Amino acid sequence: MPSRLQRNLAQRLFPDEAGSAAFLEALQSPGPEQRAILWTAPPDPVWREAHAATRPPVTSAWPWPDWLDPVSPGFRPGQDPRHESGAFYSLDLSSVWAASPLLTLATPPEPRILDVCAAPGGKSIFAHRALSPGLLLANEVIGKRLGILRHNLARCGIRPAFTQRLDPADLATALPEAFDVVLVDAPCSGQSLLTKGIENPGCFHDTVIQHNARRQRRILTAAARTVGPGGHLLYTTCTFSPEENEKVIGWFLKRTPCFHALPVPHLDPWRSRLHEAPSYRLFPGEGLGAGGFSCLLRREGTGPVTTEIQPSLLAYPVRQEDP
Ligand code: SAM
Repeated sequence: MPSRLQRNLAQRLFPDEAGSAAFLEALQSPGPEQRAILWTAPPDPVWREAHAATRPPVTSAWPWPDWLDPVSPGFRPGQDPRHESGAFYSLDLSSVWAASPLLTLATPPEPRILDVCAAPGGKSIFAHRALSPGLLLANEVIGKRLGILRHNLARCGIRPAFTQRLDPADLATALPEAFDVVLVDAPCSGQSLLTKGIENPGCFHDTVIQHNARRQRRILTAAARTVGPGGHLLYTTCTFSPEENEKVIGWFLKRTPCFHALPVPHLDPWRSRLHEAPSYRLFPGEGLGAGGFSCLLRREGTGPVTTEIQPSLLAYPVRQEDP
């Protein structure tokens, strides 16, 4: 049975009984995993023939690139030798959905990208493939998650890439206005984990949600300081509570008028009705994975960025021989 907190959230998210019931049902009964693989090398046509699933239910307006294949539920990416050799990276379809605004960006050539919350590396790898950066700095504050981040970037041949382990506030101080594109895939209450059958006690509790919202506001504020004039900031989460999504964006836009939320036309069917600024939410049960939230922000002005980056900040390049 859905809990009282789940029912309250569903009522706030959906104007109609049917939407609310479908959401609660998806939280109680996880569906099959819906994944995609992101080719880091040219796609293997034989593999494609054997494994690719039909395109997920996206409109023809989607800028779906040739280097992404949805895979059928039975396929175990980790057991395919191409995975270990770095020919592909596997990610939930909702991560593809959330990162998809990056496919629409017109950036300066060889943009500089900062991923503030990077481990295990999915969004960094997506951004690298989508935007061919001249520099990718993948930051992860939790020391024990740095290993998997470096391993994934090395395995998938992501270069030139560097890692760091800095608090977002320190990144902002060390790298003001230094990036064309900044990603904040924020730590969150992770309510969508339930739709994958992963237990996540307390994720609907107000204390947990407020703790995450405060942290998200802090991270977003710091991340914004690293965006150069005309640069973009992508804010994403894998949770449903408005406090961690639309309300973080609303709070940020009020305090930071040099940023605007941009409409993303291919995400129109998912436009959130909870805030006037364009932002997008995906619910489970739509054939696109576990669900999430995405908002593309742009700083006023024109790039490209030219701020010099201290060599000490690029002291940890990703190399082929990373374990
Ligand atoms: N972007 C990653 C990907 O696509 O593979 C997933 C990122 S996960 C949703 C959020 C990350 O934020 C975690 O790796 C977590 O360790 C990190 N994190 C936790 N607290 C943080 C903080 N205070 N500042 C920045 N990042 C934090």
